Amino acid sequence: MPSEKDGVMIILSSPSGAGKTTLVKKLSEKDNFEISISHTTRQPRPNENKNLDYFFVNETEFKRLISNEEFLEYAKVFDNLYGTTRTPVIDKLNKGKNILFDIDWQGADQIKNKKLDYKLITFFILPPSKEVLFERLTKRHKNEKIIAEERMKQFERDVLHWINYDYVVINNDLEECYSKIINLIDAVINNGSKDYDLEYIRKHVEKLTS
Ligand code: 5GP
Repeated sequence: MPSEKDGVMIILSSPSGAGKTTLVKKLSEKDNFEISISHTTRQPRPNENKNLDYFFVNETEFKRLISNEEFLEYAKVFDNLYGTTRTPVIDKLNKGKNILFDIDWQGADQIKNKKLDYKLITFFILPPSKEVLFERLTKRHKNEKIIAEERMKQFERDVLHWINYDYVVINNDLEECYSKIINLIDAVINNGSKDYDLEYIRKHVEKLTS
């Protein structure tokens, strides 16, 4: 039975290129924070480690996990399947660990709708501007201009989901963004006051979508 000593679930989502993965890795360095390792049918990238960045599985195995009802959530993102298995997450939460989820808006919606007995805090990370996002994406996909352009189009759709998150944080400077997230997590856990300006965020989203 979940209690006050249980860990907290912290979801971070963002359109591609907002710097979420770096943020999640940095947050996981904090004491008592751990990243939930997802399963995916995507091929590993050269810099990725099996069973550390992802559990890389084929579609047959992924579908077996779906039919065994092992996923807390799963979704198709950019043509690949991604999912979070339930057991490791619940075990760690029961041991008091705070779990970080680097998942998309579909997964965030599913976890929210499960209404589990654990505290849940959801963050949506945004880039400072469309120009900066495009610069980051072209740097990341150097020889694949078409991918950067596709991701920009996807951005227009993904950004609309900001409204379903508890907090939206702009990643202009990694350290600053990290501190904002940590302060908000502390405030939620300890029922403290939250330094958060929803109107400012609303205006920022308007700029990004105009
Ligand atoms: P990437 O392939 O770049 O690692 O991830 C692509 C997208 O899939 C990212 O937005 C990432 O947050 C999301 N993602 C990664 N793991 C999961 C998962 O287990 N569930 C869901 N719903 N999305 C995930």
